[in-house]
Amino acid sequence: MKKFLVLIFLLPAIMWACQDVKDSEGGDSASTTSTEDFKYVTEQFADLKIIRYKVPGFDKLSLDQKKLVYYLTQAGMSGRDITWDQNYRHNLEVRKALEQIVNNYEGDRNTEDWTNFMTYVKRIWFSNGIHHHYAKNKFNPEFSREYFDGLVEAASATISTEVVDILFDPSVDAKMVNLDTEKGLLKGSATNYYDPDITEPEVVAYYQSIMDKNDPEPISYGLNSKMIRNEKGELEEVVWKADGLYGGAISEVIGWLKKATEVAENEPQRKALELLIEFYKTGDLNTWDEYNIAWVQATEGDIDYINGFIEVYDDPIGYRGYYESVIQINDFDASERMATLAADVQWFEDNSTIQDDHKKKDVVGVSYKVVNVAGEAGASSPSTPIGVNLPNANWIRAKHGSKSVSLGNIVEAYSNAGSSGLYDEFFISDEIVSRIKEHGNLGSKLHTALHEVIGHASGQLEPGVGTPKETLKNYSSALEEGRADLVALYYVMDPKLIELGVMPNLEVGKAEYDTYITNGLMMQLRRLNPGEDIEESHMRNRQMVASWVYEKGKEENVIERVEQDGKTYFVVNDYEKLRVLFGQLLREVQRVKSMGDYEAGKNLIENYGVKVDQEIHAEVLKRAESLNSAPYGGFINPVLVPVTNDAGEITDVKVEYPDDFTQQMLDYGEKYSFL
Ligand SMILES: [Zn+2]
Repeated sequence: MKKFLVLIFLLPAIMWACQDVKDSEGGDSASTTSTEDFKYVTEQFADLKIIRYKVPGFDKLSLDQKKLVYYLTQAGMSGRDITWDQNYRHNLEVRKALEQIVNNYEGDRNTEDWTNFMTYVKRIWFSNGIHHHYAKNKFNPEFSREYFDGLVEAASATISTEVVDILFDPSVDAKMVNLDTEKGLLKGSATNYYDPDITEPEVVAYYQSIMDKNDPEPISYGLNSKMIRNEKGELEEVVWKADGLYGGAISEVIGWLKKATEVAENEPQRKALELLIEFYKTGDLNTWDEYNIAWVQATEGDIDYINGFIEVYDDPIGYRGYYESVIQINDFDASERMATLAADVQWFEDNSTIQDDHKKKDVVGVSYKVVNVAGEAGASSPSTPIGVNLPNANWIRAKHGSKSVSLGNIVEAYSNAGSSGLYDEFFISDEIVSRIKEHGNLGSKLHTALHEVIGHASGQLEPGVGTPKETLKNYSSALEEGRADLVALYYVMDPKLIELGVMPNLEVGKAEYDTYITNGLMMQLRRLNPGEDIEESHMRNRQMVASWVYEKGKEENVIERVEQDGKTYFVVNDYEKLRVLFGQLLREVQRVKSMGDYEAGKNLIENYGVKVDQEIHAEVLKRAESLNSAPYGGFINPVLVPVTNDAGEITDVKVEYPDDFTQQMLDYGEKYSFL
């Protein structure tokens, strides 16, 4: 439950579970097309968009660090086949046959059938199997059985008739993960975590019989095994380990992890890697817990990673973890930006618009980590989370803590992938659009940094007032996000940021104001269905803030609603006055929190943040639809290429950015087929 998945509708609709300190930022607040010459979106098919991401900071790494990143990405990729087999028992056979056809077919590739066939293949690559990565429904081929049989024969591909029958029969194994209990959670699911005739009650009874219910530190039962029915008819766990199930791939993973230990940045990191190797060798879930504790404690260094059988979303009864890997490099720029702001956190508190008695005398900035992804594999690729918060075991989290990171370059790539048409559509002038293109990206990053480091840290409760959860109840999180946003908005137009050297001029702040207002009043509504109210806290807070300042500034025309050629725009006329309004609302929201004023907080959210203007909403949906942008995105990974000397030693590692999804999938199939 600790990962944040993103589903993009045109622009990234970044969904974060807002737990603890991490919360959701970005997404819609601002983003831009890049002025640099880097192609983010390479192609679009079905409901998918293929995106590339950059790996900033890689060149700043030492040689050993580069090697470490390289070895860890290779380890990650080596387990790729495991995810395919976990998802469905025939996936590997299907994928290999499809790859044979794509590689070998010498017939006509300019027909509609071939195009449909390739779309089918690419969807399967994208989903690590024949079921949709999000909806979990089996794909229906949009070409005939006869055509497919012809391809198989012409390319001498290997696939059994039984499996081809399944591909063309929509009723068989139709759903990878079924959560409809009437069909039976396991019987209705096509995942390969259980033998097909095993039922949920049997599994539950099995674990009841072996679990020690009084153990305060339980292992993650079932996390790393397939459950089968043995010859005696009893349930049995077949463990995924070096000399067990998936041993071929796991041995490769271990080989690369061993190399990684040789270039670990420090002892805690090395110790964690050694425990992970031990876990893969033995399959012992006690070692898995030891590993997770060591991993959580390894906080020094610029490189981090996840690798293992981790999330249990794809097991309908939540025991077994899918294989995945994400390699992370510290985002040096973001860290520096955060550090610069954090160093002056007391100045921001003292100069805020909030009441003096609501200011902290000794404010401490919130620590928040941004990393850049260098490679992803297994269930994290091509579709990826945008943040990671692990480990999952509750007792380890409570006793030893957890790591929470935002995947900065992935978030940025998502932003860049959707925006160009959207900005032209929703902003009234070229001047505004070009300012957003030039400064919006930095504006968005500064907003995030201010929101996280300064915003959430700011302010104090009056003596005797309960926690916001107690006093503001269901409105507490929308109000808290609004408060942090308002701190960010107030300061992103402050010359102080220029003085600190984190932004060049106030154009950055203006770009952030333009995107924030238009997003809050219009663009974000494209995520809702007609007739729906706003439920999600971040969306509520954004509309609350934007519509409050719109209303309060109406008399002075601070923000003007303009109708032009049948389209509605919200245009900021006076950025300085808008800043004053943000400051006023900040003061009020802080007062609500500091005094626990439930009625006032409720009125702010209910009157400004919940109800949707139906006419505007319909217009937004229509205008967004015309942009024709796929709702789901996934990524081509960069390729790390080692440079070696005559002795075969690695002297450098280069990053290449391929732009052909099909070629990358074929390369992976050739290089990392270990099952
Ligand atoms: Zn927040």
